[in-house]
Amino acid sequence: MSSEQTTIRATVWQTPTPDGLEVLDDVLIRVVDGEIASIVPAADDPAADDADIELGADEVLVPGFIDLHLHAPQWPQLGTGYDLQLSEWLFEYTFPLEARYEDVEFAQAMWDSMVPTLLANGTTSAVYYGSIHTPATTALAQACIEHGQRAWVGRVAMDHPEGTPGWYRDDSPQIALAATRESIEQIQRLDDPLSLVNPIITPRFIPACTDELLASLGDLAEESGLLVQTHCSEDDWEHHHVIERTGVRDATALDRFGLMRQSTVLAHGGHLNVDDLALIRERGAGVAHCPLSNIYFGNAVFPAKMALDAGVHVGLGTDVAGGPSASILANAAQAIHSARMLEEGVDPELASIDRGRAGSRIDAITGFWLATVGGALVLDQPLGLIEVGRRFDAVSVSLAEIAPSDRGYAAERRFEQLVRLAGQREITGVWVEGQQVVTAST
Ligand SMILES: [Zn+2]
Repeated sequence: MSSEQTTIRATVWQTPTPDGLEVLDDVLIRVVDGEIASIVPAADDPAADDADIELGADEVLVPGFIDLHLHAPQWPQLGTGYDLQLSEWLFEYTFPLEARYEDVEFAQAMWDSMVPTLLANGTTSAVYYGSIHTPATTALAQACIEHGQRAWVGRVAMDHPEGTPGWYRDDSPQIALAATRESIEQIQRLDDPLSLVNPIITPRFIPACTDELLASLGDLAEESGLLVQTHCSEDDWEHHHVIERTGVRDATALDRFGLMRQSTVLAHGGHLNVDDLALIRERGAGVAHCPLSNIYFGNAVFPAKMALDAGVHVGLGTDVAGGPSASILANAAQAIHSARMLEEGVDPELASIDRGRAGSRIDAITGFWLATVGGALVLDQPLGLIEVGRRFDAVSVSLAEIAPSDRGYAAERRFEQLVRLAGQREITGVWVEGQQVVTAST
């Protein structure tokens, strides 16, 4: 088999550490079969003049964004339904919508709307919840392959007779386990020449699952080695529900069911304490911080700085449709805003000294790091940086409107503008596994 090569000439902006911006000025990147084979200064390589792709003067190349947590079937209600608290929102709006994915044609139409939109927002990797429907979930994995997005796709398991409605649940733990196995097999059998998609074990969250189901999915994770995703300490209701039912906190309960494993993706985590964070770190699991969703459903701000300082892997999630944006960059900006609000506090009746939590802020570099390297660390994948040996998942961003070079600002200042201001309009190209999957329409 002959190898496929591409060369890209660009200036790269990226964040190898949570506090460091790296600028690679005018480099030639050689990609072989999806992997970054070399990065050299363009001035040192005569081939730079004939690069396959050359970015414009006010464009930069950045690593692709990783969305660690979103619910694919909730795509149609993105931006609506934020008036209820989590448990009511699920029964009133969300479960009825998810139940519609029994209709695989409806599902297909949604996937063909959602996956290209996420790619156009720079999401090169996505960790998806599907619905309880195996055919719709397999169709989601197929859509990711066809549109060229790297993805982890999970059929949702949920069988609790009180935590789920009779018209949208697995009828028993055995049925949920068998359907999970069947979904995994179907996804693994798909023709996926670039190896873009993987199944992921997906117990919805403890309130929606019986103990028997949770334990059997823990056993399945051990047996298969597949990743696990679930929600953990999302809001007051869910957090306290788990304590009342199991007698322990969410993180500990998940651990006892065998679900707190290397690279388990724990969505939200706004109510985790220091002991929970220590356990998560010990197991090598990670948190999908979903700051926009948390505004509506979290009842608190996830203390991202505290989690990072505790050595926990943290990335970002849109939580479509708990969060009203499909953009990971918008969530990176919100993570910065939310952390600042946690630090300053929000209640003007309190004295400023009592109002916030000191030392909570994060800056634009950390926000961007969460969107890229942080997600790659949670998943333990060679992604998140444009670096030799990693996969070439990248996004080109136009700075012409938001941070043009002729205004006299240094790269560090213009990078902040990228993180806070760039949206789909600024994204001019997207590559996954070395393949260009989005081209600017201008
Ligand atoms: Zn969620």
